Amino acid sequence: MDHDPIIGISMRVGDNPDHASVDIRYLHRIEEAGGIPIALPYGFEAAKHADSIVDLIDGLLLTGGGDPCPECFGRHPYAENCMAELSFLSAERDAFEYAAAHAAWDRGLPTLGVCRGLQVMNVAFGGTLVRDISELDGKHIEHVVLDRQDEAVHTVSIKGDSKLAAILGTTELGVNSLHHLAICKSAKGGEIVARASDGTPEALEFPEKDFFLGVQWHPEIIANTPQLFTAFVDACRTKWAGKRTARRPFAKRAVFS
Ligand code: MN
Repeated sequence: MDHDPIIGISMRVGDNPDHASVDIRYLHRIEEAGGIPIALPYGFEAAKHADSIVDLIDGLLLTGGGDPCPECFGRHPYAENCMAELSFLSAERDAFEYAAAHAAWDRGLPTLGVCRGLQVMNVAFGGTLVRDISELDGKHIEHVVLDRQDEAVHTVSIKGDSKLAAILGTTELGVNSLHHLAICKSAKGGEIVARASDGTPEALEFPEKDFFLGVQWHPEIIANTPQLFTAFVDACRTKWAGKRTARRPFAKRAVFS
């Protein structure tokens, strides 16, 4: 590889239907970790061409944002009896991100999911979600704390033998919490490796891949775990070391030499 890893970051769709955007804090965390962030397109055409798009990047970052649609191209993320309200739905975004997750999986491309990104990874590989954490068994702590986004509002306990614990160097971490959805059933090959004190799943990893994991909190906002982003970018660098020339057949133009 003749440059730092290029990290493709999925765009979010907000309340303005004419705008798609990337939260600049993802760019900052990736740059601090030594990567080059670029925003990825979305839409049904992009979904169709997800393989070609993913071939352009060295790592995939699936970002937070609106909830996955109740139905998208045959995927039904939620149990039928879940009726809590959903927000900022975009079948176009879902379609691209499911396809990109599969393209990344097929290539062994390092992939990091944040909040919705974790949920998308889970659904893409056969898992399900609850529309609201109250649908999970037991009593629950508050997981939607909008006014303290850059603070630790609850702790998570991380499985000691997980990749996440190895990366973070701890099995206890204070995190922010901006989610009303949560994993119900985990994806095939996916393992829940962190939980809040009320049992809510907070991280998912796929042990058969070198780096394919998601967290339910927002590390790009609280910014207390730079090692998570460094491990991600380093995995991208390792994965593609020496392979860049083969993937980029175009000769350098003389003007740049
Ligand atoms: Mn939480």
